[in-house]
Order: sequence, then structure tokens, then C-alpha cells
Amino acid sequence: MDGESLNVANSIRYLGVEWDSHLSFTPHINLTKERVGKLLNEVATAGKSMFHKYPGLLKEIYTGAIERVALYGVGAWGHRTKLKGFCDRLRQVQRICGLVLSRSYRTVSTDATQILAGIVPLDIVARAEWCKFQICGLKLPATDLIGNEVDPANFDFPTDLHMSHPVDRRSLGFGSRLPCGDGLEIFTDGSAINGAVGGAFVVCYYGQAIHRGLGRLEDRNSVFQAELTAIEKACSWVTQNLRNTEVSLFSDSRSGLQTIANPDNRCSIAISILEHVEKARTQNVKIHLNWVKAHVGITGNELADSAAKEATELELQDWAQKLPKSYLRRSLKTMAQDLWQNRWNETTNGLVTKKFFPKVSTSRLIRGRVAQLATGHGRFPSYLHRFNFDIEGECWCGLGMGSSDHYLTNCTLLDIVKLRRKLKAVNDPLNILTHKANQPVLNQIVLTISKLLPNPLTRD
Ligand SMILES: [Zn+2]
Repeated sequence: MDGESLNVANSIRYLGVEWDSHLSFTPHINLTKERVGKLLNEVATAGKSMFHKYPGLLKEIYTGAIERVALYGVGAWGHRTKLKGFCDRLRQVQRICGLVLSRSYRTVSTDATQILAGIVPLDIVARAEWCKFQICGLKLPATDLIGNEVDPANFDFPTDLHMSHPVDRRSLGFGSRLPCGDGLEIFTDGSAINGAVGGAFVVCYYGQAIHRGLGRLEDRNSVFQAELTAIEKACSWVTQNLRNTEVSLFSDSRSGLQTIANPDNRCSIAISILEHVEKARTQNVKIHLNWVKAHVGITGNELADSAAKEATELELQDWAQKLPKSYLRRSLKTMAQDLWQNRWNETTNGLVTKKFFPKVSTSRLIRGRVAQLATGHGRFPSYLHRFNFDIEGECWCGLGMGSSDHYLTNCTLLDIVKLRRKLKAVNDPLNILTHKANQPVLNQIVLTISKLLPNPLTRD
């Protein structure tokens, strides 16, 4: 073209995603692996001493930044997570993070590093992100992690701010005046009991309750939605029944009132409330919003509270709102945990680790020498023997293989026995490695064994 020759390429990079001619996205995942490795390296060298002091910090960076780099462009390649081979590649991207976080040996299985570092397998996270992207981004039906169809029509998405002119955006501030039993006062409340969600409002006239409205929401609705729905129904009652007057409305939901006060709020219930307030104004009714503290003995508030509790027991869910986006996030998170747990139950990898940590958890971080004990991959005779070092696999005490399990339970070497006496929860494999008081002792045990090994170690 124009005297220049153009080369045919197998892939191009566009907006940071590598698009290959087969749309397999394998080159993209390879690129991601490189990116994650580089980032991890930079972070690890920059804060080496810091991570020693605050080991949780690196994990926080992992969940905050590295995972986001790894999932970059999931909207483009997310559909490939249906394929097993692709998921294996994603796990490989995460493997290096698991190793760095837990500082465990390179021979440890990927499944075990995820358990030690407390990180959800990346392919499961990617599938969850892909599902969220389809529903919230594309507004298309999608399959969730356990194969159920999810319809975006069931969800209450934030309204698009760009669809309205800034002048038309309404808001209504709130005060914190206490009720004084003068004129019309309305109290609202939302409640969730035993998985059921309800809301209620109580209208008081000179301190006397003259009307109450209550309704049950769908069980998957949030308490926040119930609080706002109660205010919405109260305002709707005002527009239907009152003319030429003033009303004070009291709610104990500060976050709900703050949402109504924010002109940039995108919550559909809050917008509906503001429409009711506007309609009331055309009928010459002024609505004042107030925040009151909950459970301090304000009569109207207590009435609304018990009415909202009563509402959770109603048969009909006629105050139901569309599902909040947080519900999708939460349910995908639970599904991801369950999938991870099933995978951990079924895998034949990491059998030593499984004995100590049968349950998956994201709050866990097992590192360094304790990780050596938790995996059996460390400076132990049995491990070194297995990986072809010139050393007997048996322990010097002669009571069996020199495995991590042996040193924690029945080794009779005097130094080890002395250290083991200091351990707490010694007969409880679920707690022995995580008990805070045990950490220095466990370190000492590994160091003691290490000192007994021939120096230098030679291979067979
Ligand atoms: Zn021994």
C-alpha cells in the first residue's frame, strides 16, 4: 500500500486486549500472564520489607489490583471460560500469585496454593465477572455459576444520569428534628427477619396513630430497599389523602435519607419518592424529611418498627421491588465459594494441606515455613528424598518417614519434642497451624529439622 508492504499478523492488540485470528484469546491470556508476573515482581521488590511486616498487604494488593489486571477485558474473552483448557490457562496465571503470597515451594499444586493464600480460583472469578458483565453491562440474560438462567429484567439497575438534564435532577435534604406530637407526623421503617423483608409507615395526628400501611417485599430485597419503599409508600399516601398542609416524615435510615438528598442519586425508589414529593407540592402539601435515631424510645418510631416486623409475616409480597445489584454480586460470591469448596473436596492434589484446611476461606493466608508444614513441601527428609536428593526419607528418630505430619505428631527427637510441648491445640489439625501463639514455635520446628540436614545437600 502506497509503496509499503503490509505484513499479515496472527493477532492485533486493541484496547489492551490481544485479538487473535481464531478468537481463541490464548495469546491474550499469555499476555496477561506476563503482565501479572511483571506487576507482582514490581510490587514484591518495592515493598519487600513491608510485606514481611504486614503479610496481608500483598494479598490486599492481589485482590485489589492484580486480580483486576488478570480479569482485564473479560467482556471480550469471558465466553471462553466455558472451555476447560482455557480455565486451566487462567489458573496458571494465578498460580504464580498463589506461590508468591504463600511463599511455598514451586512443587506445591495450584489447588493447594489457592487454599494457603486464600484466593478464589481465577477461572471461577472470571466466570462470575463474565456473568455480571452480561447482566449489568449488556443487559442480556446469562447463565450463572451453577447453570441457572438469570434475567436482567429482574434487576433494578441504577438509572442513567446522562438521560436527564441536570436542571431536572431533584433532591430533598433532611433535618434531624425530633417529633413533637404536633400536627401530622409519619414514621417509616424497614425490617428483615428470618429472611423475610418488610416495610411500614405509621401516620400520627397530634401523637395519635390514625393510619398505618405495611407491606412485605421479596425476600431477596435489601433492608435499604425496604426503608426507601416505606418512605415511598408514605409519600404516595400523602399525595392521595392530603391537601394544603405540612407533613413531617421520620425515618431512622440515614443512608436512605442521604440517597434522597443526593441530586446525583441513581436509585429508582428515591427518584419515585422525589416525584411524589413534587406532586404533593402541586397540591400545596409540604413534606419535611427527618432522621431519628432508632431504638431510643421514640413512640412513633417504635410503632413503625413493630409494624415493619409484622409486615415480614404477611402472605402477599405486594411491596416487592426489583432485585438490587448487590444481590447479584452476593449470590455470585456464594456460588463461587461453593464451587471452590466442591473442587477442593474432589481434588486428589494437596492431600496434606487438605488435612489441615478442609474448608476453603478467603480470609486465610499461610506463609513461609508454616506453609512448608501445611504442604509437606519443605526442608523435610521425606520431601527431599522424593525429589531425588541424596538423603534417606526416614527421620533420624527411626519412627517413620520424616514428613511434616511426623514432626507435628510423633517424632521423638529431643529438640522437636521440646518444641512440640509448647504448641497449643496440638491434637487439633484444624487449628494447630493457624493458632497465633504457635507461629514462632512452628517456625522453630522447621528450622531445627533444617539444621539436621546434611550441608550442602546433593542430588542423587
Ligand atoms: Zn522423627
